[in-house]
Amino acid sequence: MATAGNKIKVVCRIRPFLKTEKPDSAVSVEGDTVLRVTNPRDTTKDVKFNFDSCYGAKVGQDVIYKADVRPLVESVFSGMSATVFCYGVTGAGKTHTIQGTDTDPGIIPRALEHIFMHKQHDPLDYDIRVSYYEIYKEAVFDLFKPRDSAGGSGLPIREDASRKIFVAGLSEKRVTSYEQFDAMYQRACGNRRTASTKLNNHSSRSHAILTVQVQWKDTVGSGKTWCGRLHLIDLAGSEDNRRTENGRDRMAESSAINRSLFVLGQVVEALNTGASRIPYRDSKMTRILQDSLGGDSQGMMIVNVSPGEAFLQDTHNTLNFATKSREVVNKPVAHEVVEQRWSAVDRLQHHRGAGRAVRS
Ligand code: ADP
Ligand code: MG
Repeated sequence: MATAGNKIKVVCRIRPFLKTEKPDSAVSVEGDTVLRVTNPRDTTKDVKFNFDSCYGAKVGQDVIYKADVRPLVESVFSGMSATVFCYGVTGAGKTHTIQGTDTDPGIIPRALEHIFMHKQHDPLDYDIRVSYYEIYKEAVFDLFKPRDSAGGSGLPIREDASRKIFVAGLSEKRVTSYEQFDAMYQRACGNRRTASTKLNNHSSRSHAILTVQVQWKDTVGSGKTWCGRLHLIDLAGSEDNRRTENGRDRMAESSAINRSLFVLGQVVEALNTGASRIPYRDSKMTRILQDSLGGDSQGMMIVNVSPGEAFLQDTHNTLNFATKSREVVNKPVAHEVVEQRWSAVDRLQHHRGAGRAVRS
């Protein structure tokens, strides 16, 4: 079992404003590690959050990949395990970061291209296998198989003779080229569970985990067989249930999502503070990943946030989850911004005949 060792790096990424959004200035990056956000309780103040790295809206996928992800991918060729999570509310840029688009590829295509490139230029004979599964309401479903093949309760989690945790019956597809991987992966993405919520039409309600296993026999040296694992994870949206106004089914999903994200947060915190007990067993995801979190493994959580004022409360919830280190600071340009904001409210109130706007 993994023990406390390497810390989980926590980095933040702000997505750019979408064409449909009003560009305001609720969030900004200071230096390379600090995110400055308007305090939702007092808009004359900002709150600063510290991260291992902090990426503004203009930073491209290639920069994040090279600086923070590539070393983790490379570590797999030393027989290590590495895990990258994207955490944030729906619409904050998790899928864009982990998966990306054809014209702006994210971590998964870049990592897989890197792995096949390494394989091509290395004399060792690497066996590369991928699994892709989702955890939905604490049940595990194979995304390489038709959705209903595992039944409602999903695939069981078991422990082998050496106490290693595995998902019984999960497919491990052998892949020999990037193109072969990509065709398989694209098909599997269509099997992901999505549902409409008030916040987003295609909200992801499950955690999607892509695991790449790189195994080889050290024919030049020890003769031993080595295996490295890389887990790339698009977490379910971390939004607050009360705002989504979901029905009963959605609420059941939401509480499972919130619970498993809460446990993930506890595991990250326990690893990062060197706690003696790491609560891996408290959720399916952390249980499955326990050999790849902590110990000699490397881990990184990318915290995705939206840039606008409309998401301010969500952004604060996200940042409070992701970092314990924060500081309230006076806002240098508060006066000007507050005036503009209040004159807009005044106009609205006047239009409705509700009299003067009163600050609460
Ligand atoms: P999530 O998976 O967290 O719900 P998405 O990744 O789907 O969010 O992002 C929401 C929208 O924002 C999408 O239209 C996506 O294309 C866009 N987007 C997110 N991050 C970026 C980025 N860094 N650059 C450009 N567009 C982005
Ligand atoms: Mg998504």
